[in-house]
Amino acid sequence: MEINFKGKNAVVTGAGKGIGRDVAKRLAALGAHVVAISRTQADLDSLKTEVPSIETVAVDLADWAAARTAVAAIPNVDMLVNNAGTNRLDKFLDVKEEDLDLVMDINFKAVFNVAQVVSRQMVDRKSGGAIVNVSSAASYRGLLDHAVYCASKAAVDKLTNVMALELGQYKIRVNSVNPTVALTELGKIAWSDPVKADPMLARIPMGRFLEVSDIVDAIVYLLGDGASMVTGINLPVDGGLATS
Ligand code: NAP
Repeated sequence: MEINFKGKNAVVTGAGKGIGRDVAKRLAALGAHVVAISRTQADLDSLKTEVPSIETVAVDLADWAAARTAVAAIPNVDMLVNNAGTNRLDKFLDVKEEDLDLVMDINFKAVFNVAQVVSRQMVDRKSGGAIVNVSSAASYRGLLDHAVYCASKAAVDKLTNVMALELGQYKIRVNSVNPTVALTELGKIAWSDPVKADPMLARIPMGRFLEVSDIVDAIVYLLGDGASMVTGINLPVDGGLATS
């Protein structure tokens, strides 16, 4: 099936680096008008140089009010990819309140906040829409040193389910993708050490970590008309980890 997003407006959060950057570039290549939100201005500048049609917005999504203002100023959004995320590794017994707050603020509260503003606009415009939240296989598998991260992504999954339930009547579809490991900057923090990576790889039936494009492909599918009756799912993109 050919996917074409011509005439559609997309917002991608965390688009400065890693998965979000490639999502923004792919959506633009498929014809969408893309607004890329991220924190580091230099990343947004280099993205704009690479793909001049992409609009950029620099905001710290951990700042609830600033994020709301920035997102509310983006008109006519048809597609949202809630991708910005972070991690702080620690043993459960040692997790500090500031790290708990930081990870929940970015991985969960910012997803909630941005989705709420965009969904409200979609409801008011009666336009329908598609939202993909970037969760993680960490939402359904316990991972050492990932207590806060796993909990934040489990929260994203349940938010996704409830949003789909409540927003279906407005023709807004809401799904999550749940990847295992891709060796982006974030992925490398947890998984570049073979002592940690090898046991994880052994749990993945397909025997490899992800390419970023594996995740982008799944996001594009969920945004597209080919998924017009797919809503409320948490889609593992995990080489079979969920079944192991
Ligand atoms: P990444 O390479 O670290 O990129 C994350 C992007 O999000 C960066 O551009 C970052 O900007 C931005 N961001 C983070 N906090 C932000 C904030 N407060 N406000 C605005 N932008 C912010 O990470 P990634 O691996 O691409 O991860 C993207 C998503 O996929 C995350 O939700 C992550 O949890 C999820 N995921 C990743 C993996 C993996 O293995 N890589 C696996 C499963 C799920 P700055 O650099 O300027 O902060």
